[in-house]
Amino acid sequence: MRNALLVVDVQADFVEGGSLGVNGGLQVAAMIARHVRHFKSEYQFVVASRDYHESAPDHISDHPDFINTWPPHCMVGTPGAAFVPTIQNLVREKYIHEVVTKGRNAAAYSAFDALDKRGHHLLDVLKEQRVDHIDVCGIATDYCVRASALDARKNQFQVRVLVNLCAAVNEATGQQALEEMKAAGCQLQAATAP
Ligand SMILES: [Zn+2]
Repeated sequence: MRNALLVVDVQADFVEGGSLGVNGGLQVAAMIARHVRHFKSEYQFVVASRDYHESAPDHISDHPDFINTWPPHCMVGTPGAAFVPTIQNLVREKYIHEVVTKGRNAAAYSAFDALDKRGHHLLDVLKEQRVDHIDVCGIATDYCVRASALDARKNQFQVRVLVNLCAAVNEATGQQALEEMKAAGCQLQAATAP
């Protein structure tokens, strides 16, 4: 069994104080950092995705509907695009082995739309790492975590969603997303790092 951890979009704009801040995002970021450090030996591969927009007119609007369009967020070159510091530390200290980037010019909710530095899709990177099981966590449960976990299942990975390491935009849609992930064969489990 080769285990990967996928940390979805834990970026400044998606936590408290960001342009699309999710309540509980900072706490989830801190808990993910503890989890990664504590369970380092459980994962052969740890990858973080980031939303990273240059121009995505189908996705970003000055008059967003908060369903298909959103206020400007994670724009290339802005502080909001950066990982939350607790996560950036994991990148710097190489607890996170790879960063994949999505959404440059169009909406991209799933980390499976993201590319690594070489321009390789996450799926190919995971195959290269011979991963068969993926733990998923991050922001937001009802959008990018959901899309990433469902895509992981579509691509035949075993998937566990670490429910307490995810934060939702909205409680009701977050709950609905968890049900959907479960129905797609994802295991839902709380992480247990002290
Ligand atoms: Zn976006």
